[in-house]
Amino acid sequence: MLPFSFLQGKAMILSCSPSKGKFRASWLCFLLLISCETPQSGPKETLPLKSFAESQNFLATSRLEQVQAFLEALRSLDLPFASELKIEPFGESEEGRPLFFVRFGPKKDELPTVLINANIHAGEVEGKEAVQILLRELAMGQHGEIRGKMNLLFVPIFNVDGNERIDPAHRPDQNGPEGGVGTRANAKGLDLNRDFIKLESKEDRALVALLRREDPEVFMDLHATDGSYHGFHLTYSPSLSPEVDPKLDAFNRGILLPRVRKAMRERHGYFVFDYGNYRGGDPKRGWVTYDPRPRFGTNYVGLRGRLSILSEAYSHLDFKKRVEVTKAFVLECLRQIAYHGEEIKGLCEEADQTAQRGGLKLGYDSELEEPQLEEILVGKVERLRRKDGKDRIVDLDVHEPLTVPVQRGFRARRFLAYPLGWWIVHPSTKVMDLLKEHGILFERLAKDRKAGVEIFRPDLLQKEKREFQGHHELRLRGSFVEGQKTLPQGSVFVPAQQALARLAAMLLEPLAEDSLFTWNFFDAALETTKEGGDFPVLRVLSWLKSGSQR
Ligand SMILES: [Zn+2]
Repeated sequence: MLPFSFLQGKAMILSCSPSKGKFRASWLCFLLLISCETPQSGPKETLPLKSFAESQNFLATSRLEQVQAFLEALRSLDLPFASELKIEPFGESEEGRPLFFVRFGPKKDELPTVLINANIHAGEVEGKEAVQILLRELAMGQHGEIRGKMNLLFVPIFNVDGNERIDPAHRPDQNGPEGGVGTRANAKGLDLNRDFIKLESKEDRALVALLRREDPEVFMDLHATDGSYHGFHLTYSPSLSPEVDPKLDAFNRGILLPRVRKAMRERHGYFVFDYGNYRGGDPKRGWVTYDPRPRFGTNYVGLRGRLSILSEAYSHLDFKKRVEVTKAFVLECLRQIAYHGEEIKGLCEEADQTAQRGGLKLGYDSELEEPQLEEILVGKVERLRRKDGKDRIVDLDVHEPLTVPVQRGFRARRFLAYPLGWWIVHPSTKVMDLLKEHGILFERLAKDRKAGVEIFRPDLLQKEKREFQGHHELRLRGSFVEGQKTLPQGSVFVPAQQALARLAAMLLEPLAEDSLFTWNFFDAALETTKEGGDFPVLRVLSWLKSGSQR
């Protein structure tokens, strides 16, 4: 249900609307009015309700208030499944705006859950618009093949503070909307798609809490590209972390995504491919994917033992087309998820059990996988001068095939067996809060326990000179030495046998590529290490009888 408090900034309307019904009706009239007053393209369509972008002929994108009004109006319409839409808050932004998702259909535990996240980068607004249109289609009774097959959760407008800063000056080379888009960063200047390890934004903390609570088997994150001029309508990626459960990874890369790609071609005429950019900007040198680190949302969700899909609409298609291709891609993913629902649920349960059983290895020092020769599509663009003197870059709908080396994944070069668990020697409140926010299980020892341990001896502690997201990232190199330690009563022990073991290892291992060390959470403790104190996190290999000697 949508609580009144959810509709911020509408106090005036609320105060003069005694009933929710009347309130909804007033917004509906407002929207219909907009629809009638704006120019239409082609013959009159018989849509029960238009989104703001549709009403503006895709010359503008919606603000929070317009998304809320659309959803409220949609729920109040006499459509077969309108009453299945529920709007649920899950937190608030840095500036106090509501974070919310739309649930379609009653929650059923036996079904897989899919969370579709839009607008994490508020300059990339096609997902926000596609989600609204898709929700209308679902409310109208379309897409019966996915209805009742999954729990569907849509976050239409995740970086809501960024969205409200709409300005034509943002992403000038993107091909519309003319009215402008929001900012990439949130109100604190943080990139929400680099924050999934450190969780410094209120938005990502709320989203990770939602992931913990609803535990979606599939997470989709909707973007638009920033890079090469290619000939694909949309590019996509699974989690790129080499640490993803191998069976889940094989299903995503080998079954789900290839079938979506085929359906996009056959049912919609869209060419889609693995996300990438030309190596060194030169198409002939190859097509290379991006980054395996879990600071990125879709990489992160992979470490949680769930499927994830990144969607990147090609930013030089016109805005309407980007919305259409994004909607088609989401829909085809949902169709595959509906078809493979039981298998997906089973694979996620199995991934949890594999992690709980233990015996995993941490891969690190990762590199791009071997290239494979494949056909990509090279695009052509033209530059159109805007009023502000900047160039808008526009796709010319040319798709020239070229066979090049393609690298769409990463592999680890070195491996380290997981210990029994990790002893956090000096747990700061910040570290403990973060473990809880990620949902990592830990225990506090009820009594002193003697353990065989591995202690990291760093021979390189290198801080990046460049500031990134308010940090100077730390890189560690070194080796482990074995020893014995007594962990005093109350010590924090994080067992490596737990469903989120892969995430725990990423956070706590000094050689992991995107850890709490990377993000400076242990900087103060490492000062003590330099003065001869223990390394802040020790690997516990075995428990020893309290009397045993080295
Ligand atoms: Zn993006």
